Amino acid sequence: MERDTFAPMDRSLTERDRQVIWHPYTQHKGFLPPIPVVKGKDSLLFDDTGKTYIDAISSWWVNIHGHAHPYIAEKIYQQALQLEHVIFTGFTHEPAVKLAERLLPLLPGDFSRVFYSDNGSTAVEVAIKMAIQYWGNQGGHRKKILVFHHSYHGDTFGAMSVSERGLFTDAFREYLFEVRFIDTPSPENIDYLRALVQKEGPEIACMLYEPLLQAAGGMRLYDAASLDLLLEAVRQQGILVIADEVLTGFGRTGKRFAGEYLHQKADIICLSKGLTGGTMALGVTASTERVFDAFLSDDKRKTLFHGHSFTANPLACSAALASLDLLLQPDCQDRIARIARRHTDFLETIRPYPIVRDARALGTVLAFELNTGDDGYTNSIGQQITAAALGAGIYLRPLGNTVYFMPPYCITQKEMDQVYDFLVHCLVRYSGNPVT
Ligand SMILES: *Cc1c(COP(=O)(O)O)cnc(C)c1O
Repeated sequence: MERDTFAPMDRSLTERDRQVIWHPYTQHKGFLPPIPVVKGKDSLLFDDTGKTYIDAISSWWVNIHGHAHPYIAEKIYQQALQLEHVIFTGFTHEPAVKLAERLLPLLPGDFSRVFYSDNGSTAVEVAIKMAIQYWGNQGGHRKKILVFHHSYHGDTFGAMSVSERGLFTDAFREYLFEVRFIDTPSPENIDYLRALVQKEGPEIACMLYEPLLQAAGGMRLYDAASLDLLLEAVRQQGILVIADEVLTGFGRTGKRFAGEYLHQKADIICLSKGLTGGTMALGVTASTERVFDAFLSDDKRKTLFHGHSFTANPLACSAALASLDLLLQPDCQDRIARIARRHTDFLETIRPYPIVRDARALGTVLAFELNTGDDGYTNSIGQQITAAALGAGIYLRPLGNTVYFMPPYCITQKEMDQVYDFLVHCLVRYSGNPVT
């Protein structure tokens, strides 16, 4: 009998999913059935049986104000009734212009132009293209791109090329362009790195980095003062500085942008994830006038030939405007500060456990390694913790043996306690009691 894919109501959503879906970052051989989510509210996800899960990773780091926020939903709805989409070359619209007008003064630097795309990877692609063509348009010969080991900037080819080589990129390694990898700066290596920048500076087009927190690379924190010193040397060489704040933007690190921890400013900044409160796909690449000016010309070849069908989608821009409204309210700032304080306190609770290594926190992000098996994404302890957490009504997704907790800012004190209790339960289960 022929399978009727269009009258599938007799089968569970999980079964139907198994027939037609290819999930991201998922080995489908032997994979656990996905959980059908029917509803979200604040920090909670509801499955089809009514069971709830605390979204302890903000749905892959995008959600900041909670799920199905009525204010953002209303703004998207109103915009959908007015104008859902229009080509963004030759046309403009209020949500795109207003978002740029509101965003630019908030950004950590002298940014004056917004280029829209669809997600974090495209925001990075655009930034790289801007930087390369910036030099090309001026007849320059700077070719090198400077990036940090352990960085992650996305999954498209350009974004992969500027990311740490490893498990995620191995299958494509011969197709990635070469970049210059250096270690993240620290008081120990800063003199070496500054000397390197002085030596190779005239060949370097741009430097791209995740300020203070390398997220997908293992929630690694590094030193702001050393980064400032490195950026100073980089800027002295005229190298374009690109801050990837796709994750760190919009309050994640305790300040509105991680760049606010630094004195040195970037020439280009990439934003996505929390930009729309995690509701719609949107990317922003903002630049300074210096960068924009290098593309102004009577020569058509100096145009930035880049654009996506859904560039500056009005619904996504409206969602971003609504999310900004919420972010700028004082109570949102208070929530972020409260999460940060509680994370810091919790570090003291977990540090005595011998199985815990390098417990750390920055703003709303808490992370630590479990001393078990090999370090890295393939360590299966992460999957065990995900499974155990689901049983406890919590969604956690460690990066291998790196466990992290990164909630939406609206998470309640009680929900935070539940997650902390679960984490302690894991430590006891995998290692026994703390050293006293
Ligand atoms: C997630 C992430 C990206 C990629 O964003 P996508 O929207 O997943 O393409 C880029 N840079 C950083 C720092 C990220 O955390």
